[in-house]
Amino acid sequence: MAYLTLKDINKIYPNGYHAVHNFNLEIEKNEFIVFVGPSGCGKSTTLRMIAGLEEISNGEFLINGKRANEMGPREREIAMVFQSYALYPQMTVFDNIAFGLTLQGVDEEVIEQKVKKTAAILGLTDYLDRLPRALSGGQRQRVAIGRAIIRKVGVFLMDEPLSNLDAKQRVTMRSEIAQIHRETGATTIYVTHDQTEAMTLADRIVVMKEGYVQQVGTPYELYYQPANVFVAGFIGEPPMNFIRGTVTGGKVKFGDNMLDVAKKLGDKAAKYEGKPIVFGFRPESIVLGKQPDAHVVKASVELTEMLGDNTNVYITAGEDKAILKVDPHDTPETDAPIEFSIPNKEVYLFDGETEMVI
Ligand code: ADP
Repeated sequence: MAYLTLKDINKIYPNGYHAVHNFNLEIEKNEFIVFVGPSGCGKSTTLRMIAGLEEISNGEFLINGKRANEMGPREREIAMVFQSYALYPQMTVFDNIAFGLTLQGVDEEVIEQKVKKTAAILGLTDYLDRLPRALSGGQRQRVAIGRAIIRKVGVFLMDEPLSNLDAKQRVTMRSEIAQIHRETGATTIYVTHDQTEAMTLADRIVVMKEGYVQQVGTPYELYYQPANVFVAGFIGEPPMNFIRGTVTGGKVKFGDNMLDVAKKLGDKAAKYEGKPIVFGFRPESIVLGKQPDAHVVKASVELTEMLGDNTNVYITAGEDKAILKVDPHDTPETDAPIEFSIPNKEVYLFDGETEMVI
């Protein structure tokens, strides 16, 4: 039996806005689940329904197989870390972390022991006497996490916990959160709009768009087996390139190039003849020059961005545009012609009407 079960969960706000549609998911104990998607797609709403902060309009939420829709937040044994740290400014780090236990009237010695253990996990041992204002953003966020993990809870919810940190702190804190999860083993549900955070932290990712779950899978599955154009375009940086066209004689036009899709379509080739199709390939999957068993494309270089470990090359071919990721030593000239190959096995085909993978 799954630890947490969300069955056909819906959220319709009092103003009639249907924010979450038939959300289904089973979460196992100790899993690290990430909800990812653009702003406004219903991630926080779903998280808040799990926390018991928002009423579930329709559907059932189960904890250990037991209906939890009507349980209050405390009864659910769930702790939540928010975007803003919400620390008490006049209390020391120690008191902030201890706060929940102090309220519960836990024995002082036990509190001291637990705070010290939590602080050690979070690297806050040397800061216990400080006030929050004397801490960096990353340290404050760690105190907020400490306050949540010190309570023995079954589930740990995090809503964009890194969004107030700068880029460097985010990378550090991201690996710390992964470490904390390894050490505590707490079942975690984490909300972010950042696909890199999702890919690096998650055991499984739930990709959402406009209130609907698009796909649930491991980072590997989402990257290599995206269910539709949205997921394929959302996971990966720079995103997958999409060439939209109509299949004509088993081919799709990419600028002046004709991409032969008949072989890949196999017995569906006849069905798609004359139909719209989306030809997808990742920037990192191309090879410069002519390769065997590949679609060879001639295009023009519009712009290059040397990023150190790779160069992003923005190309145009007629009306079509794409980004290629190449070795910086192979950075091409701007405004010059370029020839590259898209290996057949790296091509994704999607139905142009449904946008689902073929
Ligand atoms: P996300 O976390 O993915 O950014 P949210 O779950 O916060 O998205 O919001 C999903 C949608 O529900 C948004 O369009 C948002 O405007 C709407 N929404 C959120 N809270 C309310 C509310 N209290 N009343 C009405 N609509 C809301």
